[in-house]
Amino acid sequence: MNAYAHQLTRGVLDGDRRAIAMAITVVEAEGSSAAALIKGIYHRSGRAYLVGVTGAPGVGKSTLVDRIMTVLRSRGRTVGVLAVDPTSPFSGGAILGDRVRMQTHALDPGVFVRSMATRGQLGGLSRATADAAVILDAGGFDVIVIETVGVGQAEIEISRTADMSVVVAMPGSGDGVQALKAGVMEIADLFVVNKADHNGADRAVSEIKTMLGLNEYGPDDWQPPVLQTCATDGIGVDDVVDTVDRFRARADGVAGRRRQARVCGRIRQLASDGFLEHAEHRVLEPGAFDQLVDQVAGAEMDPYTAAEAVMDQALRSPRGANRTDDAEPLTGVLEHIGIAVRDLDTALVFYRDALGLELEGVVEEVASQHVRAQFVSAGPATLELLEATSPQSPIARSIERRGPGLHHLTLRVDDIVAVLARLKARGVRLIDEEPRMGAGGRLVAFIHPSAAHGVLVELLESPALADSTGRGA
Ligand code: GDP
Repeated sequence: MNAYAHQLTRGVLDGDRRAIAMAITVVEAEGSSAAALIKGIYHRSGRAYLVGVTGAPGVGKSTLVDRIMTVLRSRGRTVGVLAVDPTSPFSGGAILGDRVRMQTHALDPGVFVRSMATRGQLGGLSRATADAAVILDAGGFDVIVIETVGVGQAEIEISRTADMSVVVAMPGSGDGVQALKAGVMEIADLFVVNKADHNGADRAVSEIKTMLGLNEYGPDDWQPPVLQTCATDGIGVDDVVDTVDRFRARADGVAGRRRQARVCGRIRQLASDGFLEHAEHRVLEPGAFDQLVDQVAGAEMDPYTAAEAVMDQALRSPRGANRTDDAEPLTGVLEHIGIAVRDLDTALVFYRDALGLELEGVVEEVASQHVRAQFVSAGPATLELLEATSPQSPIARSIERRGPGLHHLTLRVDDIVAVLARLKARGVRLIDEEPRMGAGGRLVAFIHPSAAHGVLVELLESPALADSTGRGA
């Protein structure tokens, strides 16, 4: 884990709000940083209670959640709210509700509100929501409310992230009780008919009870209560919070089973996403997957055979292996870039702290070159920060002549002797006509900067998948 990720992880575990906000941004972006972050904090999750609040737009969810926050705070509990809008892209409606809440609870450190909207696929949003809940949980919030706008399949999917689902409806036609779909009925552990100050609230309650009456409940089963609230006045909200606590306190093992089902779904999802990602982007040739799609669409191949072909290939290739077009050619694989710096510690303030790059190992003293070197990971290549330890050092001389900056490029080659022979045959000016032994017992040779248009180029012989220890200059 790099220094920045480490700091972020610490910040989340300390409950630092800025770190929590940044961490949620990281999981929204997905990618490997998200995985690293969750790996670093997951052990501290599992204490919070996750409550999903779902309902059609306009029924008063935001207002109700705001009141629920107030009640929970008055009972000394901290609350994190994730307002999730699967239907609108960023800067959509969800932000608006946020502002209202932010005003009520702006100065309260026991409250954290965050909007999340879709960036693309729903799968991404569900995953980001689940990860964001882990962040708030590990960050020490007692209750996490996941408020989703709407009552479609997407919202139901996201509600499954919670320990308990509250479905909000309102009296009257349109987006009221009638709009409750079968799926929503099934996930609800508690119904709230909000806007009880409107006409028809009692009818709405009895309609829902009638629908629930069609279900068969055993004597020990939880029957979803149907409550009434007037969120604008806060009437009935205490009752909602009490019911949530009662549901949580049940001793029938449902909570454990739900958690079990939830993490089971998460692992399956991540594993299958990972498998497909591996198959499509690391194993199959570029375009091969699309070709399969075309063939199946054109009925030249059946989908079973296509899926088997993908699985067969993926299973045969070791995890992390590259496909052949990624295999490194004889020359031209950038191994690292050497940068002459005046002072290593100051340079790290930028490369490590500001850019957030990960250090590779500790500072190495190369006595023969009069330098201290620190390798810094930058994706597939590495930066080598070089500081002179004496005025005779080539780095000191380079800085004297040109100032600090790019010092050399190191290209990895399979066969340094063959490469040198080829360069010599073409009349390329070399510093080393023969390879010599560099650090780590590997063969190195330098090409003269005048041949390389002003850049000192180092060749380093190294097998294609060598480990990253031991380098040249
Ligand atoms: P959401 O879209 O479900 O989040 O709904 P909002 O919380 O934004 O509320 C929609 C509108 O209904 C707002 O104008 C609220 O002030 C109003 N509202 C919310 N709860 C109540 C209530 O209990 N009674 C009445 N009369 N209006 C309410």
